[in-house]
Amino acid sequence: METIIAIDGPAASGKSTVARLVAAKLGGTYVNTGDMYRALTWVALRHGVDPAANPGAVAALLPGLALEFRLDAPGQPVLYLNGVTVPQAEIRAPAVAAAVSHVAKIPEVRTWLLARQRDTRSLGLIVMEGRDIGTVIFPDAPFKFFVTASPEVRARRRLLQAGETADGATIATVAAEIAERDRLDSTRAVAPLKPAPDAVLLNTDALTADQAAEQIAQTVRTRG
Ligand code: C5P
Repeated sequence: METIIAIDGPAASGKSTVARLVAAKLGGTYVNTGDMYRALTWVALRHGVDPAANPGAVAALLPGLALEFRLDAPGQPVLYLNGVTVPQAEIRAPAVAAAVSHVAKIPEVRTWLLARQRDTRSLGLIVMEGRDIGTVIFPDAPFKFFVTASPEVRARRRLLQAGETADGATIATVAAEIAERDRLDSTRAVAPLKPAPDAVLLNTDALTADQAAEQIAQTVRTRG
């Protein structure tokens, strides 16, 4: 089957875990678009660019970059930057998380990534997660979900993810970081975070990741 399952939602809503499980259940390919924004942020920081202060310098880096997913193993695309694997530990670090929303609001960055994200259509059944997949990247996707969870649940889940929070982080500091990222993501001018009008809303507070993924997979199996 070839189809697109768009899974959008705010930071730390559990959508990555859910999207990965949905892809496994349906035999599809999981594509994490947040990693693309994180990879560009990582590069900018390594060039000494502060994305909040100097968005133009981030845009100026783009022509020198090649960013693509390669299907090294079935269903598990690996992100490559200029021919080298993007290290997950680096792009999930707190410094990248703190700057990524400033990179994501740069119009040139979004245009540059839009084409690369649409290119993944050739991978067959794809489960793509992000903030604007159902609204901008694939507005014609037959399956759209918007995954949410309460701020407290999200902060707790994020604290449990090793390497993604600063030393000494607490529920309160993590909740504040997530809230600031959501504020920036939902108030930007280009492709803000919001549910597509035809998205199914899924609150995962009382669901395990597997239960949430099963609901999505079941919707696709019955309508697909
Ligand atoms: O999903 P994740 O939290 O890793 O995404 C990191 C950041 O990338 C988001 O906070 C957002 O600023 C940006 N992003 C986006 N559009 C997407 C995916 C991610 O703006 N489709």
